Amino acid sequence: MFKKAHWGSKTKKRKTALPMVSKVCSTCAFWVGSRETKPNGFIEIHPYSKGECQGGRYKHLEMAALATCDTWEPWAAMNNYRGEQLAQGAGY
Ligand code: SF4
Repeated sequence: MFKKAHWGSKTKKRKTALPMVSKVCSTCAFWVGSRETKPNGFIEIHPYSKGECQGGRYKHLEMAALATCDTWEPWAAMNNYRGEQLAQGAGY
């Protein structure tokens, strides 16, 4: 028998840092969910959070932060971050 997973209140509040280069819903231009950019090239999300896909393959569906599809497009905030890095001579 499998034990039922218990997600305590501390687990629900835990956030995950995810590299902006990850091609998942939470770094996609079409995803509307809770996410926050960090100055080190990461975004902070809750790994179990969901948001609405407002374009692309799963338009109007609720998508998990770590889901993905073949119509992923980079979030504008990530472009700004890369632009800042290029301006500072990071060269990528
Ligand atoms: S389902 Fe695809 S298009 Fe929609 S938010 Fe996720 S990666 Fe972006």
